[in-house]
Amino acid sequence: MAVQTIQLTPHSDPTPAAFEVRRELSGVQWCARFPGDDTLDALDPTFRPDVTAFFAALTAAHANTSIGSVFRPRNRAYLMHWSYRLFHQTVAARDIPRLDGVLIEWVHPTEAESVRAAGSMCTGYGIHDLGTTPALISQHEARLAIDVTISWNGTLRIANRDGTIATIEFTPRTGMNPELIAVGASYGVIKYNRTGIDRPHWSSTGG
Ligand SMILES: [Zn+2]
Repeated sequence: MAVQTIQLTPHSDPTPAAFEVRRELSGVQWCARFPGDDTLDALDPTFRPDVTAFFAALTAAHANTSIGSVFRPRNRAYLMHWSYRLFHQTVAARDIPRLDGVLIEWVHPTEAESVRAAGSMCTGYGIHDLGTTPALISQHEARLAIDVTISWNGTLRIANRDGTIATIEFTPRTGMNPELIAVGASYGVIKYNRTGIDRPHWSSTGG
């Protein structure tokens, strides 16, 4: 077998070939990059019918649903996770690890500026008061999660998957209502059940 040697450094100039990686300072402009897909079609085919059926029941019961996030690529999850932690000062800007493919510079001239820029990103993502750190590796990346804001007025009468009707009279009239959470579970749509509070998050496992 012939072995080919590729010479990257010219013989006339023995300095090794090198290039400088330019990083762009953190800020709200990053939020538009690495976009997700926030439609039901973005869900994995194993989970989409469950969510579609649950949403149909909510609609039939005159509840309001507003989808926040469905599919989230890893690069986006990285930016959300670390901007949230920097904004809440559970990490210093200089200690945030790099991720291939995301040429962000978290370190501004002062830490206060770094935190402020991270805060603007959290606002851009709508996560500044999420109540828990957005996961680095989440069910959103696997297309097995959906963030949705749910609300209704008065008493909610909503069908379980087996056709029985749940009558929900108690507050909160949101996706945090334990009786609504039980209805969701009948469809295989599980409310977030790990550490912290992730109000809009439902998934195939609760993770
Ligand atoms: Zn979520």
